[in-house]
Amino acid sequence: MTSHTAIVARSLNVPAVVATHNARQLIRDSEMLIVDGQSGVVIINPDRAVLAEYRLKQSELDLERQKLKRLRSKPAETIDGVRVELFANIELPDDVSQVLENGATGIGLFRSEFLFLNREGLPTEDEQFEAYRAVAAGVNGLPVTIRTFDLGADKHKEGLDGLSRVAPNPALGLRAIRFCLAEPRLFLTQLRAILRASHYGRVRILIPMLASSSEIDQALLLIEQAKESLREQNVPFNARIEVGGMIEIPAAVLAMGTFCSKLDFLSIGTNDLIQYTLAVDRADEAVSHLYDPLHPAVLRLLALAIGTANKAKVSIAVCGEMAGEVQMTRLLLGLGLRNYSMHPAHLLTVKQRVLTSEVAAIRPHVDRIRRADDPLKIAAMLEKLNAL
Ligand code: PEP
Ligand code: MG
Repeated sequence: MTSHTAIVARSLNVPAVVATHNARQLIRDSEMLIVDGQSGVVIINPDRAVLAEYRLKQSELDLERQKLKRLRSKPAETIDGVRVELFANIELPDDVSQVLENGATGIGLFRSEFLFLNREGLPTEDEQFEAYRAVAAGVNGLPVTIRTFDLGADKHKEGLDGLSRVAPNPALGLRAIRFCLAEPRLFLTQLRAILRASHYGRVRILIPMLASSSEIDQALLLIEQAKESLREQNVPFNARIEVGGMIEIPAAVLAMGTFCSKLDFLSIGTNDLIQYTLAVDRADEAVSHLYDPLHPAVLRLLALAIGTANKAKVSIAVCGEMAGEVQMTRLLLGLGLRNYSMHPAHLLTVKQRVLTSEVAAIRPHVDRIRRADDPLKIAAMLEKLNAL
């Protein structure tokens, strides 16, 4: 669900089922398939009854989506008046139309590394600038959070020396900000492009995979260097651009003080936070049954991260897949989350859940969930919370 292949499929609105063993032996050319991404089922050559059932399901889904469209411009506010920001995640500039169609109030995560993938060579500063400017200028003044590129692990780019060596453990290796700090020239090119785009909209910079205070310092220093080089060339940019950090590593949550004091905003990448907390590779289906967003350790880290940031009055969002799962909306609200960033297709469903929730009623349930250790009890309590 959180592998980058799955994320891209979602971004392209392609129904997808992953890890279907022997599919290539079982399926022949020109056969009709039903790909049911919701229940993870592929049906080969469905008979008439099954086909009719799925056609009905499909039109019900379309109808549901149409109905949700009515909520598009309604502010996301709970019954007891708590305002929530629902931002969108995008992978490519073309995704902007979906952001607007679904009434997002900002872009919380632009995964800029997708500009680097599926192409020969690297995008130049001008190419990157054009892509960032198009997004910044295309969202009618909404905030646009551009994450500096997160290459490495399962987002492999041919031809980049630091990434092409065979790393014994790529998810723990030279990835994201670690790679950027090892290749400052590539990083500076991107930073200049982002800063140039900041002149055309409300652009913010988000740094992935930070674990330590020295990485924050180095990243901030390079941002200053990029600003200085633009100043020397009289290129306009927003000198007060906000810089945020992703909370994706348990160490970052446990040392949040530094993050709160050095950065303007934070965003929790639950996809990685869960992977690193539970030591479960998010792209390895052999251990996908162990990937559990409701693991008590994950819930405690989330509670700690959100609580610490709220206390320090530093804005914090969740931008991992968890933010777009409607089963998690109330749980996150009860933990104090007020900013969600998700794939635009989930946005109105989550908004509907926010509109029918009451924070005061949710809190005691979430407090109980936070204290629980038994996964079965947690699942039952979550069900109760969602039935309120
Ligand atoms: C995350 O880790 O939750 C996240 C949003 O970043 P990505 O999925 O691109 O690693
Ligand atoms: Mg991540």
